[in-house]
Amino acid sequence: MSVDLLKQLDGVFADARGAIAGSKTDVELESVEIDLLGRKQGSLTGILKLLSTLDDESKRTVGARANQIKTEIESLLAARRAEIAALSGAGAIDISEPVLPAPEYGALHPITMACEDLSNFFRAKGFLVLDGPELESDFYNFEALNIPADHPARDMQDTFYIKDHPTWVMRTHTSCVQIRAMMKYGAPLAMVAPGRCFRNEATDVRHEHTFFQFEGMVIGENITIQHLKGMLESMAQHLFGVNTKVRLRPKFYPFVEPGMNGEVTCTICGGVGCKLCKGTGWLEIIGCGMIHPEVLRAGGIDPKKYSGFAFGPGLTRMAMLKYGIDDVREFNAGDLNFLQQ
Ligand SMILES: [Zn+2]
Repeated sequence: MSVDLLKQLDGVFADARGAIAGSKTDVELESVEIDLLGRKQGSLTGILKLLSTLDDESKRTVGARANQIKTEIESLLAARRAEIAALSGAGAIDISEPVLPAPEYGALHPITMACEDLSNFFRAKGFLVLDGPELESDFYNFEALNIPADHPARDMQDTFYIKDHPTWVMRTHTSCVQIRAMMKYGAPLAMVAPGRCFRNEATDVRHEHTFFQFEGMVIGENITIQHLKGMLESMAQHLFGVNTKVRLRPKFYPFVEPGMNGEVTCTICGGVGCKLCKGTGWLEIIGCGMIHPEVLRAGGIDPKKYSGFAFGPGLTRMAMLKYGIDDVREFNAGDLNFLQQ
């Protein structure tokens, strides 16, 4: 009898070890525990109940073995419970968990990149990099730049006006910062001013109501067109490569005299002629000229003593050429597909 019970005990212990090791969750482990040690139907409990039917010696042998097995089973259960807790706890890798989407990183807008690039170029040459208000007064935007109220240039630069404030305008160019800089710093002066500008325009692939300019100005004694051309060449070569050439052609701007269009050799064909440059080999990228004496005077600078040049590469146009963007409307569209390229 006692020999049978000892064999049964070994069998129960062997099964118990397998069942405990095979349990993967707390619930499974609990059910294994009940099967073994449950008060009513536990397999080990059942054997222990039979002890009372044995003689004293068998009771001692079987009882000692049964208690030893019970203790071992309890410690196996505890160990397995700790393993399951560790696997499901923090730091565990749960391969059934859904994959999180990769974080999205922002990038600089092409206008910002072109602006930083040009600002750094001029900063290195000793220019001040200045800012000015986007909501300007009629004086800074038009009057002081030699565009009086009845001047036809006002028609070319129709802008947005502010209700109930007839002398406030959304600036049509960054040239207003020229006047502010002259008044603040006087001559001699070398400054650039990047910024957002506005015009009341119908939009198409080349026109936007909101665009970016980059304004520059140098004032000193004996400043000539030679200085202007040399500086434009060095800027164009920085932007588009060392083989870029610059030519100046006359164009009217009210705030310069003479006024010029600065053209660079085409960034696509290098001057041979292609679709971008309409076969001419040249691209207009910059309005420039020698600062009009009236403008110097409006800024509080004596035009008899000082002269200067001003230039305004369209920042938007620069970014289009530099990054090969063919529709100006993309810049303000907020389309992530465009911005992530
Ligand atoms: Zn070309």
